[in-house]
Parts: sequence; structure tokens; C-alpha cells
Amino acid sequence: MKITEIFSASDRTFSFEFFPPKDEISAVDFGINVGQLLKLDPSFVSVTYGAGGSSQERTFTLVDYLQNKIGLNTMAHYTCVGSSRDKIAADMQYLHQIGIENLMLLRGDPPKGSEVFRAPVNGFRYASDLIAFVSNQFTFSIGAAANPEMHPESPDMKTYLKNLKVKYDAGAHFMVTQLFFNNQAYFNFMEQARQNGITCRIIPGIIPITAYKQIQRFVDMTATSFPPDLLEKLETYRDDADKVYQIGVDHAIKQCIDLLEKGAPGIHFYTLNKSRAAVEVFESLPSKVRTRANISIL
Ligand code: FAD
Repeated sequence: MKITEIFSASDRTFSFEFFPPKDEISAVDFGINVGQLLKLDPSFVSVTYGAGGSSQERTFTLVDYLQNKIGLNTMAHYTCVGSSRDKIAADMQYLHQIGIENLMLLRGDPPKGSEVFRAPVNGFRYASDLIAFVSNQFTFSIGAAANPEMHPESPDMKTYLKNLKVKYDAGAHFMVTQLFFNNQAYFNFMEQARQNGITCRIIPGIIPITAYKQIQRFVDMTATSFPPDLLEKLETYRDDADKVYQIGVDHAIKQCIDLLEKGAPGIHFYTLNKSRAAVEVFESLPSKVRTRANISIL
């Protein structure tokens, strides 16, 4: 089912993101994770496309499996990295043939060691170009990335929002945000997005912190900010893995409840293929925020 059709039927979506497992052991873990998630009846699941264009085949194999063997509504991520227009068209044709109806279309990151993203030969430089190309030829439901604290390469929020509007106009039906820990960043961003004419659903992307060492990685990857009280708690208990896990999960629960109470159109959980924390967070959400919103959706 297309995600846009799910939107017509429900105010809120709850979705979970995975990456393709790297080896047989991780594949077993992955199977256990998916098994845990099945009982939550997710609105959809998504599978990332390898950074630097790696693991593309595994993404395709996995979306085929989740969509056709497990029967989950599946969204395939796809980036501009390493693909010419001809390859993109062939890949889209393939995904369509195997029954994939939902795509998350992205630019991708520059290769390691390079600061600048360069378009592949006969390929695209920005996600908006990829979205325009795909939406002109195919009928997928198309998602795009949004960064509430702006993309690290953007000079300022105004420029970021202007470019985001181009991406929306190119054919993005909905957006999913980069992970964040400070809800005010999302609420401010939503206000600015609406002022800039971006009217689609923008689903907050949430990750429960489960280990102290993740903090620096998240900052390096996304330039996200941490609420000082959260950081202080994590610092205090940095050597106590169980306590760090609990602080991370508790913060994510608080974040999700606040987002949903204030009208967010659902939650997209970044699971990092470890669904225990995401399942715990989801199951802790009171049913009144999981279903219909009492207030208007953001
Ligand atoms: P864009 O929207 O193209 O933006 C990139 C930069 O270019 C921004 O600074 C933007 O302001 C600027 N820009 C855009 N258009 C223009 C223009 N016309 N002129 C000038 N500047 C412009 N990465 C992966 O490799 N695989 C994945 O599966 C994956 N999944 C993701 C899922 C989500 C929900 C999110 C939020 C991110 C994901 N990423 C993934 C990371 C993503 O590839 C990176 O954040 C990447 O650096 C930017 O991708 P984008 O689609 O936001 O790019």
C-alpha cells in the first residue's frame, strides 16, 4: 500500500527503519528484530541504502523479502550516489516490478574523506533532481529527508528551507526528519516549513540512545543538539551501560509523548537493527497518543 493511502486512512503513522544486515549472524539478529516488530503492526518499515552507494543489492533483496514474504508495507531508500539516469530508471523499474510502492529519495553523503558531494556522470547532484526525475516517470509514493536543525552543509536555515521547498515542489509527498533530541527544534522547524509553503506530513525521526559512545557519532553525522540535562545525565552514568540505556529510552518516551500530544503526525523510529529499545518506547506510549489526535496534526 502506498504511504499516501495510509495517510488518508489514519492521522498517525508509526514506522521503523532498518539497514541491510552485513553477514549471516546479523541476518539472524535482524530476523529476530523484525519478528518483534510484527506484533506492533507498523504502518510501514523502511530499509536504508548503503552509505557511499554500498550494499545496494542487499537493500533490494531485503525490501523484496519484507514486502513480499513478510507482507510489511515497505519503503526502499535510494540515493543519487553512484547512479546515472539510466541506472536510476532501471532500478526504479525493478522496484516497481517487485511491488515496492514507497521510496525515500535522498542525495546521499559525500564519500569518506571528501567534504563535497559531486554528481555522478549523467546523474544528479541534489535529492530534488532525483525526486523530479522519478516522479515524472513513476507513480511511487515519495518521501524525502528533512533536517529540523538544518543540513550540516547549509549556510543557514533560510537557505535550507528554500532548498527544501524545491524538493517538496519536485514531488515529495511526505518527509521524515533526521534524528533529533530536542523537540523544540522540531516545533520551530515545522512552523518555518509551513511558512515556506511545505504542507506535507513531516514525520519526526526518533532514536533512543542506547550507548554512551553513540552521542559523538550522532553529533558528527547530523550536527544535532542535545538538551543539556540529557547530556549531563548521560555523562554522569557514562560507565554504567544499563543506566545509559534506561536514560536514553526514557528520554525517547518523553520526546514521543510530547511530539504526539502537540500534533506530530506519527513517529519514525531509527532502530539501528536493534529493535528492543524502539519496541520499548513504542509500547510505553499511551494509546490516546498512538491513535487519533485530539488536536490538529502539525
Ligand atoms: P538534499 O536535499 O539534496 O540536500 C543536501 C544539501 O544540498 C543541503 O545542504 C541542501 O540545502 C543543499 N541543496 C539542496 N538543493 C539545493 C540546490 N538546488 N542548490 C543548492 N543547494 C541545495 N543516506 C544514505 O546514504 N542512505 C540512506 O538510506 C539514508 N537514509 C536517510 C533517511 C532519512 C530520513 C534522513 C533524514 C537521512 C538519510 N540519509 C541516508 C542521509 C542523507 O543521505 C544525508 O543527510 C545527505 O547528506 C543529504 O541528503 P538529502 O536527501 O537531505 O539531500
